[in-house]
Amino acid sequence: MKFATKQIHAGQHPEETTGAVITPIFQTSTYSNEKLGESKGYDYGRTINPTRVALENNLAALENGKYGFCFSSGMAAIQAIITLFKPGDHIICTNNVYGGTYRLFELIIKNYGLEFSYIDTSDLEELKKSIKPNTKFIYVETPTNPMLNITDMKKLSELAKSKNILTCVDNTFMSPYFQNPLDFGIDIVNHSSTKYINGHSDVIGGCLVTNDEKIAERIKFLQNSIGAVPSPFDCWLILRSTKTLAQRMKAHNENAMAICEVLSNEKKIQKLFYPGLETHPQYELAKSQMRGFGGIISLELGSFDRAVNFCNALKLFQIAESLGGVESLVCHPVSMTHGVVPKNIREEIGLTDGLVRLSVGIEDKDDLIEDIKNALKVL
Ligand SMILES: *Cc1c(COP(=O)(O)O)cnc(C)c1O
Repeated sequence: MKFATKQIHAGQHPEETTGAVITPIFQTSTYSNEKLGESKGYDYGRTINPTRVALENNLAALENGKYGFCFSSGMAAIQAIITLFKPGDHIICTNNVYGGTYRLFELIIKNYGLEFSYIDTSDLEELKKSIKPNTKFIYVETPTNPMLNITDMKKLSELAKSKNILTCVDNTFMSPYFQNPLDFGIDIVNHSSTKYINGHSDVIGGCLVTNDEKIAERIKFLQNSIGAVPSPFDCWLILRSTKTLAQRMKAHNENAMAICEVLSNEKKIQKLFYPGLETHPQYELAKSQMRGFGGIISLELGSFDRAVNFCNALKLFQIAESLGGVESLVCHPVSMTHGVVPKNIREEIGLTDGLVRLSVGIEDKDDLIEDIKNALKVL
């Protein structure tokens, strides 16, 4: 089945008692047994909920995976992954990882005896060198936020498999429509479904998908034991949203490409970061593992003041954290999403004071371009 069909049908079937086409919001915390010990497979709302099951099966299908698990946030999903590991385990993580992920690993999980190395995972040699005898896990973001660096997923999974190391890719930026890490041999894929998967800036959510039965069993255990599960209503909202994921992603991509074309000739921008640009250092790799380039563009404007002035001058692009919604947003990573990342690490990865990140929405591209051009006039 093709993506646009799966997004509408996978995991969903007419409701049994009424035939309702749309999976209902099963707003219940518990389920009645007809006789003692005879349940219908549903016992308690944290453990299992029909609306959540529909969403989990839908997302698993979109990621070409067998098992899906939903969480109350993207961070809760990442926390569940990291609790697969034990004190003494060494974990390698992309250096330009989402700020909240860095905070969870560095300020919380590290206190429990896990060891982390942050490296440029797009450099396979560096990756090889950083593997230690106790390395158990490689956690990668590709493309990264906000630098849009790309890691070769096939080579990563081959290397990791040869050393019995688990791999996970945060696929939030591409969504399952443009990239499917499991197809390249990655063990687990995670999403902040808050972003493109839900796409309407009205839900916080996260998910994990895997093809491995043993990992799935363990994640199911962790999901139930830790308890950071999403509400039935949030699951329902996300289910409604995935029905248009392909159409939204196409529109994000088309608008971002059009904006890049205009901005490439703009002298006031020092550097433009977008994996769909031929000037992107990993353009060929991007084309080989992604089916599109998404809606995130980063711009280097040269200084803190110029970045701030540009953000303040935009009218359609709203200054806000988050990304992946239908409306266009702008963010200044240094003062917003990446504030917790130490300055020396930010500088190492090129995350400067003058960097601005655009989350290009699905409005009319001419309006978006005009907004950006007008804002550049103040610089
Ligand atoms: C937002 C985000 C997260 C965290 O997800 P929440 O839903 O905000 O908890 C993780 N990874 C990436 C790449 C993100 O953009």
